[in-house]
Amino acid sequence: MSAPRPQPRLDADNRSFWTGGADGELRLMRCRDCAAFIHPPRPICRKCLSENVAPEAVAGTGMIDTFTINYQKWHPALDVPYVIARVAIDGAPGVFLTTNIVGCPVDEVDIGDRVRVKFEQQGEIYYPLFEKIV
Ligand SMILES: [Zn+2]
Repeated sequence: MSAPRPQPRLDADNRSFWTGGADGELRLMRCRDCAAFIHPPRPICRKCLSENVAPEAVAGTGMIDTFTINYQKWHPALDVPYVIARVAIDGAPGVFLTTNIVGCPVDEVDIGDRVRVKFEQQGEIYYPLFEKIV
């Protein structure tokens, strides 16, 4: 990765998600009333409309739910080809992160593969990418 990735704009709701990697933690918003995870981060629970939500660290592992291989150079920061995957996050039912699978050739990625978060830091942002658990 030569140029910087496009950066998310940090706010009070998403800061814990994008900066949790500084402590090696994948953090998701969770409702303190009904226990639902809320992603993308929002200040109000989607299930029960409670405002009693706070970030919580999850295990940082998951399973590839689906994926595609991108060959188009849409952005100078992203060397092609690369895998865009939807990862079902362990311990957070209903949460799927759209992310990249890194650390292996693109043709070794498959649905059902177990993966673990691998943070890529750029400035104060820690992108939660994933690599296969081998
Ligand atoms: Zn709730």
